Amino acid sequence: MGDGPPSSRHLGLDLGGTNIKWVVVERGTDEWRVLDRGQVATPIPKGPDDVVPRLGAVGAEAIKRSPGVTSVGVGVPGLYDPAAGTTRFLVNFPGGWPDVPVAGPVGAALGLPTTLINDARAFGLAELRLGAARGAASMVGLTLGTGIGGVIAIDGRVHLGHDGTGGELGHQTLEPDGPPCGCGNRGCLEAFARADRIAAACGAATAEEAMDAARAGDPAAAAGLVVVGRYLGIGIANMIVVVNPDVVVIGGGISAAFDLLHRPIEAELRERVYTTALDRVRVVPAQLGTWAGAIGAALHGAETADRDDPAATNATVEAR
Ligand SMILES: [Zn+2]
Repeated sequence: MGDGPPSSRHLGLDLGGTNIKWVVVERGTDEWRVLDRGQVATPIPKGPDDVVPRLGAVGAEAIKRSPGVTSVGVGVPGLYDPAAGTTRFLVNFPGGWPDVPVAGPVGAALGLPTTLINDARAFGLAELRLGAARGAASMVGLTLGTGIGGVIAIDGRVHLGHDGTGGELGHQTLEPDGPPCGCGNRGCLEAFARADRIAAACGAATAEEAMDAARAGDPAAAAGLVVVGRYLGIGIANMIVVVNPDVVVIGGGISAAFDLLHRPIEAELRERVYTTALDRVRVVPAQLGTWAGAIGAALHGAETADRDDPAATNATVEAR
């Protein structure tokens, strides 16, 4: 691997509706590792005027514990403007946070280059570099939870698209006249397979209850998960046909039900994918758990800083 810098440290902040998670990762010559991590409650009802400075304060505390950080990445749960460093729409945040500057104030507070990334793309980048998709050239990832996040990586890089929304596979249309989705469309994968729809399909109050009931042998819950798994399988089949990935990684809170959903997903893939050999496409659970978003944000900040510094580009490619 050779001539790259000996090691460098990078901060990742994951802005969630419940918690702000942070990690400091260290890049060695051919290895990333997590040095330190933690979380604090997000003061969400107080709005951006309190939450954004809190991000800066959390970052400052993390850097005090692990000095030498050279870049910052912030994962945000929604749409953002990569060039301006502002949020465009955070679906679960009061008011939606239109045009809220985040990268600018956090970067100014920490005195470091700071960049934003969508939290599902951050999850995918982390799983690609350090987790279940490590070593894969191409991947498709899904995060199952309140909504359905998505990510596509091609040739070892997460595909962001021109405004960071590349890979929003939860918002692919599966049924033209299907139920309304929070994004404004109808019949999206998310409208069939997000947490509250899993609960409803299984006749349970929550997705967690649905999974518990299915594990306990409740036939209605088991049947509901087969229906949801079928829609997930159709969405994943579409992505396999388009991307031809080495691996499909399933993460997010609901991925605890991977063992229950895996069989209906695989059955649907066998029904629908004829362009490639499915025995060469692994469908696997994520490995990094709830820290993937913060880790991926840190990696994105590091890789963005490398790209902005042409002298570091070769070292990055080698270190990957
Ligand atoms: Zn949608």
